[in-house]
Amino acid sequence: MEILKNYINGIWVDSMSTKTIEVINPANQEVLAKVPCGPDTAKDIEIATKFAFNAYKEWSKVPVMKRVQALYKLKSLFEENIGEIAEIITKESGKTKEESFGEIQRAIENIEVACGTPMLMAGDVIEDIATGVDEMMIRQPIGVAACITPFNFPCMIVFWFLPYAIATGNAFIVKPSEKVPLTMMKLFELIDKLDLPKGLLSLVHGGKESVDAILENQTIKAVSFVGSTPVAKYIYSKGTANGKRVQAQGGAKNPVIVLPDADIEMSSKIIADSVYGCAGQRCLAASTIITVGDDKREIKDAIYEAVKSRTIGYGWDDGISMGPVITAESKHRITNLIQQGLDEGASALLDGRKTSVSGYENGNFLSPTILENVALDKNLIQTEIFGPVMSLISMNNIEEALRFVNNGNYGNMACLFTSNGASARKFRNEADAGNIGINIGVAAPMAQFPFSGWKDSFFGDLHGQGKHAIEFFTQTKVVIERWPNIWTRKF
Ligand code: NAD
Repeated sequence: MEILKNYINGIWVDSMSTKTIEVINPANQEVLAKVPCGPDTAKDIEIATKFAFNAYKEWSKVPVMKRVQALYKLKSLFEENIGEIAEIITKESGKTKEESFGEIQRAIENIEVACGTPMLMAGDVIEDIATGVDEMMIRQPIGVAACITPFNFPCMIVFWFLPYAIATGNAFIVKPSEKVPLTMMKLFELIDKLDLPKGLLSLVHGGKESVDAILENQTIKAVSFVGSTPVAKYIYSKGTANGKRVQAQGGAKNPVIVLPDADIEMSSKIIADSVYGCAGQRCLAASTIITVGDDKREIKDAIYEAVKSRTIGYGWDDGISMGPVITAESKHRITNLIQQGLDEGASALLDGRKTSVSGYENGNFLSPTILENVALDKNLIQTEIFGPVMSLISMNNIEEALRFVNNGNYGNMACLFTSNGASARKFRNEADAGNIGINIGVAAPMAQFPFSGWKDSFFGDLHGQGKHAIEFFTQTKVVIERWPNIWTRKF
């Protein structure tokens, strides 16, 4: 079985660690590869960082217009290889074909936006801030940066950071999720064709030990993290204590309010797509649906119909709308959480726990679950399930529903379905979440906008994507200049 290599100093090398864990296809438990892990992966980070620093010194002197040429080429390589990348994503993460192509598209859009870095990283100048004195603010790269990413988007999430990091003149180290490292292996085969300075982009595998090595390394100046909230908190506190700039995106529990004046048919379909897309393993998946008003029957029936028709199976097969969850442990955890909800007083409108897919009997499949009347004073209502489970609750009016939204610990996304502009405006203004959807089920910011989580969904100041990423990967320098009179204007 293949043990995955690291990509360091522009070549594929064996890890310093001989310890490995298996990468498994969640649809059939096939072992796809072995990925290095364990304490010795810390040495891999040390080696990659030394080469990265040398590459940064060279690359930061390359004009920005020239630096972004690598991104234009990378975009073309993505497009030429899109089918193969998508198939790998489905194989290791269980996504449907459509979902895999979709996340690659989102990665490409970030590359495109980062191609605008020659304008995005421009500074400011004020001439004659005092007579004959000019002042300017310029942006310079910070040096070596690294990202640590989760399993649920093996391609896209790295590209919330990587294109901006290198376009602004930094070197960058990628530590992908040990559950889905194969997509990044393919993408680094493409990166290898870019003619970048050796060491500028590195791929280093591993789990907690390699993350700790990143957090402790003095050469690495910035860390971008996406994953669960406990790990995000850990990364943020340890990284910042070690003097690094850190942006750490955490978990979520996204509420969606449906007002009585919402378009029932449209809302129910969009909500079902949001809850069950990517088998619910999306940080912007709707999780708690709050119906407002007396007539709940109609929306409940419409949601039930929209959910029932979903087809479960291997993501690469045609006509499949939901694949498996990532691991057997994950399936077990979700199944237990459904039971917990029932024990806490909820009832199951749909119970997806007993699911078998013909030909994939060993897969981690779950069908959609809808839990009704989930207790508001118990644990499940605030617990991130990260699986295909909808909690359906009801409230009397928008004020009560907003209070519920704002009492939640997370703040990744909140959505409202309505046909009333005033309600929409009130919600947009008052909801405590960083990504807001009005008649939208997955309010995923496009690459031009920051991925704007709040509360326990984000630790840091500057988010991934767009201008925030440009700011994150650069440090400002203010220069005040006075020149001898002979070269200045005569006054
Ligand atoms: P995870 O936190 O288990 O792992 C994420 C990364 O952290 C991996 O690379 C892993 O190797 C590393 N890691 C895991 N445990 C660690 C530890 N104890 N110390 C140091 N490093 C550690 O997350 P996951 O299960 O891969 O992904 C799912 C989670 O990610 C969910 O909570 C989901 O909401 C969240 N997520 C958030 C966003 C967002 O934008 N806010 C996007 C995608 C996923």
